[in-house]
Amino acid sequence: MIQVQRLNKWFGDHHVLRDIDLEVAQGEVVVVIGPSGSGKSTLCRCLNRLESAGSGEILIDGVPAPVEGRELARLRADVGMVFQSFNLFQHKSVLENVMLAPVKVRGVSRAEAESTARELLARVGIAEQAAKLPAQLSGGQQQRAAIARALAMRPKVMLFDEPTSALDPEMVGEVLDVMVQLAADGMTMVVVTHEMGFARRAADRVVFMDDGQIVESAEPDAFFEAPTTDRARDFLAKVL
Ligand code: ADP
Ligand code: MG
Repeated sequence: MIQVQRLNKWFGDHHVLRDIDLEVAQGEVVVVIGPSGSGKSTLCRCLNRLESAGSGEILIDGVPAPVEGRELARLRADVGMVFQSFNLFQHKSVLENVMLAPVKVRGVSRAEAESTARELLARVGIAEQAAKLPAQLSGGQQQRAAIARALAMRPKVMLFDEPTSALDPEMVGEVLDVMVQLAADGMTMVVVTHEMGFARRAADRVVFMDDGQIVESAEPDAFFEAPTTDRARDFLAKVL
């Protein structure tokens, strides 16, 4: 579903992604971990072209990720993204937030968009919040609304960039539960997170990044029990 080949990215002189090779199969859940500044967010943003690549190839579902025009809009729909900050439209209801892109970008009728939106809000457990404004929801509910909004575009892939980092601790679990369910339903997912419990529970593979490189890529049990590099061992010693 995702093929990244020799991806490099510079910010000025700063080489932030170095020869990244990454393949994610359909239905696979890849958790990306690593220290702050290692390039995790930049990698995610390159995957849906929020950030331009310096060099290298990115294919989504076998097709080179387009860089502009209508094709780019379709890429953004196919590759859903959920950020640390929920990025909901504050002056629109939760329901409208979820309906908006399918109506505007996919040309879906309002009636169909509403019925899909209500289904998705039920799926993430906030059906009863549909008429409220985002500010009237808890952080965990807002993040679940953001997940529903991304799912409304029927993406092929979901990217999550530290989706629980801005939440109060008691709300982390409800968002992770939605993500675990999504993984169980077969969604292809790339998840940047510091939640090692989620990685153990839901990941098919853990990718460890440091200094712009993928340093290790392994199944969670192997990675957590026996990391093969000093850099991964040092990182795990700090976070576990
Ligand atoms: P992570 O998500 O792993 O914390 P990032 O991908 O955000 O890392 O950042 C990787 C490196 O790129 C960091 O050194 C960061 O300061 C730098 N960086 C990120 N975004 C920009 C930007 N827009 N302009 C310049 N440097 C950036
Ligand atoms: Mg980041």
